[in-house]
Amino acid sequence: MSPLYLKNVRHLDWNTCAIRAGHLRVDPGPRGGIEHVDAVPGGAEAIECGGKLVTKSFAVGHHHIYSALARGMPPPPRVPTSFVEILELVWWRLDKALDTDMIRASAIAAGIDAARAGSTFIIDHHASPNAAANSLHVIAEALDEIGLSHLLCYELSDRDGPTSLAAGLDETHSFLENRQGLVGLHASFTVSDSLLDKAMEIARGTGTGLHVHVAEAESDQEHCMATYGKRCIERFAEAGALALPKTILAHCIHLNDSERALIAGSNAWVSQQAESNANNAVGTLDAGGFPDRVFIGTDGMHGDCLAAARAAYLAAQSHDAPSPVETYERLRRVHHYLAENDFEGDGENNLVVLDYDPPTPVTPDNWPAHVMYGLNRSHVSKVISDGRVVVDGGRCALIDEEKALAFAREQAARLWKKLR
Ligand SMILES: [Zn+2]
Repeated sequence: MSPLYLKNVRHLDWNTCAIRAGHLRVDPGPRGGIEHVDAVPGGAEAIECGGKLVTKSFAVGHHHIYSALARGMPPPPRVPTSFVEILELVWWRLDKALDTDMIRASAIAAGIDAARAGSTFIIDHHASPNAAANSLHVIAEALDEIGLSHLLCYELSDRDGPTSLAAGLDETHSFLENRQGLVGLHASFTVSDSLLDKAMEIARGTGTGLHVHVAEAESDQEHCMATYGKRCIERFAEAGALALPKTILAHCIHLNDSERALIAGSNAWVSQQAESNANNAVGTLDAGGFPDRVFIGTDGMHGDCLAAARAAYLAAQSHDAPSPVETYERLRRVHHYLAENDFEGDGENNLVVLDYDPPTPVTPDNWPAHVMYGLNRSHVSKVISDGRVVVDGGRCALIDEEKALAFAREQAARLWKKLR
């Protein structure tokens, strides 16, 4: 593949927020870079950007692609009255009903949504207890077709018994043999000590980390104290999970000071999902003690990192009150997580071309405030992933979107029928 040239851009460095006008050469491939060039060679593939802002695309720090067909689904048999009931009556009913076609449709729908919102990388946490076999491979294939990079895991849990767990372990093993990924665990309250040990053994053996929900609701802590005589973070730290630099602890809403100190002194990372936390009424992340370990996810609600960052910014004002700059760094920290751990597919050749024409000047100093108060997915006009154009004019360029979304609606109807 030859490089792609972006002519007449205002390139905004995602890390320093420095802005430089000119032309960019975008190298292809999962580890490709970019370079400012004085001229575009004749005959090269080039896109005229007319002075538009170009910056790095986004990465979703924690997603649940399997929930992509949930939008508008039939209500649960009764109204859930606790977080555990939300899982039992909504999400565990849904994930148990998934089959391979529905998983494929979910991945296509979630991938299209994320790509159109300017995300080129998805860290996903997948569960389909009655269709675990091949599930991660199917998701990977769908995201590959759309042109997105990914870091997948299968949610291991004791909640559905040994047969389902064995299928999840098989899928984890076979996926990690071929592709980059993590070892998924549901949450402390559905993971026995023997499963936690097994997950750690796989993570160490394959050189990866855990991806697990932690203290999303107070009930996770209560269960951990009652069953193991310790708190969730203590349990995962004692198992060795926090020493692994690829480990992601999702949520971490209900922590005490000693757990905060354990995270602060560890190699693990925390993902924040403010919209989902509001939706489930479980509380708000207070990143006090470990602000430089937090990045942002969407928890299956959508693939729009800008919306998730704004929600995190607003929700946290009554807690650790991060500034626009701190929240912007939180939005971008996932790139450090991916780079420091040498994961593929989040290089500098992942870009968004923004059709953003604000009423106030954009400067390196005020860019984070533009991101919190102005920029949104409607400004994403082109998305470049691994040096290829994957979204053009707001539509996915590598797949037939119309056909893909028609397939998703067909599978959603099948899924909903099973949920009635
Ligand atoms: Zn989650």
